[in-house]
Amino acid sequence: MFISRFFEMIKFVCKDCNKIFEADPIKKEYFDPIFGPCSKAVAKCPDCNMECNEYIKPKPQKASSQPAMPSCSTGSCNNCPSMN
Ligand SMILES: [Zn+2]
Repeated sequence: MFISRFFEMIKFVCKDCNKIFEADPIKKEYFDPIFGPCSKAVAKCPDCNMECNEYIKPKPQKASSQPAMPSCSTGSCNNCPSMN
């Protein structure tokens, strides 16, 4: 089943403007050198029109409960080991 809108309105962060905004996400597929084909949600910044990545809330770190794993640039794609 093809789902073009795979999220509701979600938050994005513009690193240029240092701004967090909500937008309708666009699914973007890209090639990660470690994990291969990945997809992520992007949106255009309302101020500078730059393509921005999804805002990931900082997670509290649990000390040494999990081994450090490499992930793709967003850490949220289907190929990331942390999502399994
Ligand atoms: Zn911006």
